[in-house]
Amino acid sequence: MMIRTRWSVGFAALIMLTSSWRLGQADAIESPTVASAVNVASAAAHASTPAASDSLHVPDGARAVELHSRIVTRDATDKRVALTLDACAGLYDAELIDFLIAQRIPATIFATKQWLDHNPTGRAVLRAHPDLFDIENHGEHHIPAVIGKGRKVYGIAGAPDVLHLRREVENGAQAVEDITGEPSRWYRAATARYDEDAVEEIQRLGYRIAGFSVNADAGATLPQAEITARLKHVQAGDIILAHMNKPRSQTAEGLRPGLLALQQRGFVFVHLNDVAVQTTP
Ligand SMILES: [Zn+2]
Repeated sequence: MMIRTRWSVGFAALIMLTSSWRLGQADAIESPTVASAVNVASAAAHASTPAASDSLHVPDGARAVELHSRIVTRDATDKRVALTLDACAGLYDAELIDFLIAQRIPATIFATKQWLDHNPTGRAVLRAHPDLFDIENHGEHHIPAVIGKGRKVYGIAGAPDVLHLRREVENGAQAVEDITGEPSRWYRAATARYDEDAVEEIQRLGYRIAGFSVNADAGATLPQAEITARLKHVQAGDIILAHMNKPRSQTAEGLRPGLLALQQRGFVFVHLNDVAVQTTP
């Protein structure tokens, strides 16, 4: 059990302080459902804090884990939620962004350098609304945060060594800073999965890792009705993940009624930079 041993006490302490993980997700792209997120939260609420060794059990062959986080809410009247949109590779979903502008719904955007370079129109629209869109770092080339030759997440090659990961993170951060004029503070890796060494390196570079609690569109693969249905389960403090790089998907159509319904229920959308965020199971 080399793998088990490598998730050692030092990393356990890091995890206990900053993060906790859900291991062994099914291997569909960005697969966790609202239901599973709710179940995990509920299970965590009813269980005593597990020993570090239990929480860090890594099944053989499942060395990358998905990071989840939520906004720290003050009390029952605090109905803040965050919408986060990944711009991986691909195109610009103008329909989605135009809707957010019309409804004044802020979002934290995780863009790759690749997306920023290839979507000047989208880039310009985001920059024209800095009050609504906070642009953060999704890497240079959308490389998952797992380190080692031949390692992959969902078939996408990770970083062969730590230098490649560092380049992915730092060049992504530079691309964001070139656009916004401000240093980026958050990092979300491609596939939202990380291994131990990658987490340590990203944090050592000074970035916070942005998890999520509601996977709204499963990598922009879900039908409209399913996306809207997932948003019905949103609770105060949730961090919603969806995508803005696939205009031919049904993400915009599904988010539109779902987000309007959340506004009508009194939820307030905020940027990750404006709130305290905690990592959850
Ligand atoms: Zn992505």
